[in-house]
Amino acid sequence: MLAVQNLEVVYDDVVLALRGVSLEVPDGKIVALLGANGGGKSTLLRALSGLLDIHNGEIRKGVVTLDGASIGQLKASAFARRGIKHVLEGRRVFKELSAEENLRVGAHANRKNLAANLDRVYELFPVLKDRRDGQAGLLSGGEQQMLAIGRALMSDPRYLLLDEPSLGLAPKIVEQIRDIVVEINRQGTGILLVEQNATMALAIADHGYVVENGRVVMDRPAAELRNDADVREFYLGLG
Ligand code: ATP
Repeated sequence: MLAVQNLEVVYDDVVLALRGVSLEVPDGKIVALLGANGGGKSTLLRALSGLLDIHNGEIRKGVVTLDGASIGQLKASAFARRGIKHVLEGRRVFKELSAEENLRVGAHANRKNLAANLDRVYELFPVLKDRRDGQAGLLSGGEQQMLAIGRALMSDPRYLLLDEPSLGLAPKIVEQIRDIVVEINRQGTGILLVEQNATMALAIADHGYVVENGRVVMDRPAAELRNDADVREFYLGLG
């Protein structure tokens, strides 16, 4: 299990972005992380994937653990080697490279089974197979998001941290991404899903957390959150 306990994170020694957060991503589950902008969701993903350093952030208190062992002090490459992959917000692909070159770059943490992983990604995303030789920068927004997820899958991760995969995409593409996330999970990968689209996230998640101002304000099974009056009003627009 991947987890944080009582985590406090500061940026530039002054901005307190997380104020004692505890969260668990059990193996093989989908966990949704919801909350308004600036609440600390991306910061939490960075802490879970070793990316705080490059943003001048640091853990001031608490721990990040993998199977009970503290890993918060490791570098990002070590998180990747342990099977934790973070798909950043905003579809960061290498625009000048072809789709397939992007996928091959994604295998750097684990070159074993490269061919099998490539086949698996193409099975999940047939459109990427069709466009394997095309320049990544010329793919549609949805295809670039698929490529970013596909690249992370090339190391066959144990956990996938997804930061707003549906942002700015048409409803039909959001449905495709949702179905693919469910399939990736069905194949065994634990998912931590940060989403503004709370309806989508809670529809597929096992468990959900809501963060506000650097604190967890709800920590409950997704089915309960779907029926919670406050969640329905503030996050699902069903008030
Ligand atoms: P969003 O969806 O807008 O990214 P979020 O819930 O992911 O929101 P974070 O991006 O984690 O929230 O931001 C949490 C707090 O930390 C905010 O107050 C934000 O301004 C601050 N913050 C985030 N990144 C940095 C940074 N690199 N340097 C300084 N402060 C930062």
